[in-house]
Amino acid sequence: MNNLFSKQALTSEGWQANVRFEIREGRIKSLTAGSSKESGDIEAGIVIPGLANVHSHAFQRVMAGHTEYRGPAGTDNFWSWRERMYALAGRIDAAAMRAIARQAYGEMLATGFTSVAEFHYLHNEPGDDGTSEVMFEAIATAASEAGIRLTYVPILYERAGFKEPEPTAAQKRFARSVDQLLGHYEKVSKLTTNRFQTGLGVHSLRAVSANSLRTVAAAAKDTHVPMHIHVAEQQREVDECIEVLGARPVEWLLEQCDIDSSWCLVHATHLVDTEIAAIARSGAVVGLCPSTEANLGDGLFPLKSFLELGGRIAIGSDSHVSINPFEELRWLEYGQRLITQSRNVAAVSRPQTGRSLFDQALAGGALACGRQNDQLREGGLADLVVLDDDSPMLAGHTSKSFVDALIFSGFTLPIDRVMVDGQWRVVNGHRLDAESAGSAYAAVAQKLNRAAAS
Ligand SMILES: [Zn+2]
Repeated sequence: MNNLFSKQALTSEGWQANVRFEIREGRIKSLTAGSSKESGDIEAGIVIPGLANVHSHAFQRVMAGHTEYRGPAGTDNFWSWRERMYALAGRIDAAAMRAIARQAYGEMLATGFTSVAEFHYLHNEPGDDGTSEVMFEAIATAASEAGIRLTYVPILYERAGFKEPEPTAAQKRFARSVDQLLGHYEKVSKLTTNRFQTGLGVHSLRAVSANSLRTVAAAAKDTHVPMHIHVAEQQREVDECIEVLGARPVEWLLEQCDIDSSWCLVHATHLVDTEIAAIARSGAVVGLCPSTEANLGDGLFPLKSFLELGGRIAIGSDSHVSINPFEELRWLEYGQRLITQSRNVAAVSRPQTGRSLFDQALAGGALACGRQNDQLREGGLADLVVLDDDSPMLAGHTSKSFVDALIFSGFTLPIDRVMVDGQWRVVNGHRLDAESAGSAYAAVAQKLNRAAAS
């Protein structure tokens, strides 16, 4: 039994004191405020819900820090980074994928993410005919070993660009036909467990035809799973889309597809006012990945006007140059402060900026992962984070500003324990599988980077 008693907890009712949680079969059986500790209860300082990481390419974790040098052209950007990413992707087999993903997922748990949506397009091992399941199995096994809740999102990738109907040689590792992808989806969606569910998606408008997009979106709708797509991340993509399809990417997508709250539009960086309003109206979640967007030089999402229109957001760590939900939220706000020369930009739904960001990411994150609600409540998932209330980071704070302190103090996160599906995955600040995951990851990272250097 993993019942716990916490001095303060952020529940669906807001902050409550002396809360006792009874945990059964991965769920919160009861949650009672104003309670007292019972024998066998674990004593917890402060309890908050875990956040969802709505956009992950797990394999890119092994690239972190390896692309930060100027190339010969002296004009590095997203597209030159992408060449380096392709070179790496070409060397990753299923065994490497499993070790890298296990490490990334463990790091997510250690920083307070309790679930992840894996936007998975590295489907094929070298020489694969497009039917093997080994790369998927590597992801699913890694999530299971790390103990994170997984929404597996198989992604259609079929061509090199708006005017290039075939994938390049490097993109062959990603390419599957619509039938192959949907066949794979049908198989894996039968594997649903407490901690595993599925979504569906396409890589981007440039990487799939309009017909394929509609087919995949219809399959997602028919089976009631979230639908993910990268959109308008780069100005070049916007320009090509206007040239070929006669409309901006988001404009086109909203015209062509029935976009609603089951959609996760990843990045949506380059928008005009009508697109900002239309996404907000649609109820779609925008999956923002501020540390990766900064690292890749993507641009800044128009957060203020989107939130003021009632738009939904969630966060992802995408390429994993950073794995820390609180850093993502800090960057999200700081980008806006820098560009608007003002403060507390995201404090739209409530006066506290950190709490406002956290609540948005919690609600949008659940939707993008295919769940209705990730708040701590009776009958809800037992996915939670215990904070050490003796931490200097939280000293002098009350519940009014605990979340602001987590996001806007760049100190060591005071995470004491993390629970997913009723099981502890982090105890005393220590990830339970850190050593075995770390050594398997180190061996793969060294091998891949030796191969890259030779
Ligand atoms: Zn991405």
